[in-house]
Amino acid sequence: MIPEVEIYDTTLRDGSQSEGINFSVMDKLRIAERLDAFGIHYIEGGWPANPKDIEFFAQAQRKRFKRARLAAFGSTRRKGVAVESDEQVRLLLEAETPVVTIYGKTWLLHVKEVLRATPEENLGMIADTVRFLKDHGRFVIYDAEHCFDGYKEDAEYAIATWQAAEKGGADLVVLCDTNGGCLPAEISRITAVACGKLSVKVGIHPHNDIGLGVANGLAALEAGAVQVQGTINGYGERTGNCNLTSIIPAVALKMKKRCVPESSLAKLKELSQFVDEIANIRHDPRQPWVGEAAFAHKAGTHVNAIQKLVRSYEHIEPARIGNVRRVLVSDLAGRSNIVMKARELGFKASNETPELKEILARIKKLEHEGFEFEAAEGSLALLMRKILKHEKPPFSIEGYHVSIRRDRSISVCQASVKVLVDGEFEHTIAEGDGPVNALDQALRAALVKFFPQLKRVRLADYKVRILNTSAGTGARTRVLIESTDGKDEWSTVGVHDNIIEASLMALSDSLEYRLLQK
Ligand SMILES: [Zn+2]
Repeated sequence: MIPEVEIYDTTLRDGSQSEGINFSVMDKLRIAERLDAFGIHYIEGGWPANPKDIEFFAQAQRKRFKRARLAAFGSTRRKGVAVESDEQVRLLLEAETPVVTIYGKTWLLHVKEVLRATPEENLGMIADTVRFLKDHGRFVIYDAEHCFDGYKEDAEYAIATWQAAEKGGADLVVLCDTNGGCLPAEISRITAVACGKLSVKVGIHPHNDIGLGVANGLAALEAGAVQVQGTINGYGERTGNCNLTSIIPAVALKMKKRCVPESSLAKLKELSQFVDEIANIRHDPRQPWVGEAAFAHKAGTHVNAIQKLVRSYEHIEPARIGNVRRVLVSDLAGRSNIVMKARELGFKASNETPELKEILARIKKLEHEGFEFEAAEGSLALLMRKILKHEKPPFSIEGYHVSIRRDRSISVCQASVKVLVDGEFEHTIAEGDGPVNALDQALRAALVKFFPQLKRVRLADYKVRILNTSAGTGARTRVLIESTDGKDEWSTVGVHDNIIEASLMALSDSLEYRLLQK
């Protein structure tokens, strides 16, 4: 498949300049492999002037990429130095990549004030460097830095710099909105000029400083550009680059242009989550297209409508980019939310189910007390089950005791729990790092005797929030717990004036949920 729009990924170079991101060589190799498998056309690996990126390119040479072409990034030669004696240009060749991308100056302000070169010298630096790399057999992409700001100040000179790259033999001239402050109309107008003045293909490299990275990428593509450069999840310096996880589906599904392989599109969310995981960043639920909330419906009227016709409140079918529709249950919920949620959780329910009214009333009452079920589906499933199936819980907690004592500098927490299962009592004691941990240990130790499947369950996350409810009862504590058995994850909630009671509620729900699942 020959793409109409090529995707050039710079997550490993521009993206790694994000605040809080620090990729190791191994991280970069794993991301590169994943990008290649997804069908990204170009992967910019880094700037082989620093030891980490030199090491990356050395290791990447031993990899076989299926589709992607690897690019090394650098700059034009320094002023006053012959290109063949320029150390940085030599390192670009030593990276042994099929593609080399170099940036050069478009904006006279930078030429004069930053480079301290004459306008003619700068043109020579661009043409020389491109030609030298071409002579060494590289596919050369020329990044015109500050392209739009430069053009707005001196259009004639900006055009001369692009033409210098073309004359040197560049395969592609990429217009960069380096400061990220341009508007789509400007991007569109200047891209059209570049496409008219050049016979080589034109690309776009937008930044997101005013929230228009993706819009500017699309504007340039509409105006004739054929390549867009960006990063997965929009990582990048300051507020980031053009977000590829937004622009790829926009190109494929909205502009209807051939881009990445069609089968890859359904793996877009997975790719986005994978890169966040490697970067050790929490996946943003509000991210367009791929976020957890991108197809989450909360208002009762919306849910009622999508139950009849999903198109009524969804711009695309979420599965096309690997996302899923979610129905949220909250005090804004109507019957439709409850029906859809109940079905999602595996219960039989319809708008005529008589228990719906009781479930809805119970949820609204609990949410008023400070419970929150959007992030605690385990507790929600238990609540529905109790009402729909009129079942008794498999165990009950008859009593507990928690103590904390301090021995010199070490504090020791101890908990005892008494449970009742099928008419039989069990009483256990355990120690833990903190009172909740001790309680968790004691409760599980008591229950494992009856339910050995609980042995593998452990706490994955524990969040506490202090609430000030409108009921005027003063501060209450909400505890959200995430549990896992190594395979599945589920979350439960507890609310009480006392943090230990709230925690025990969430812990007990977590274990009960696990028992009722299998
Ligand atoms: Zn950039």
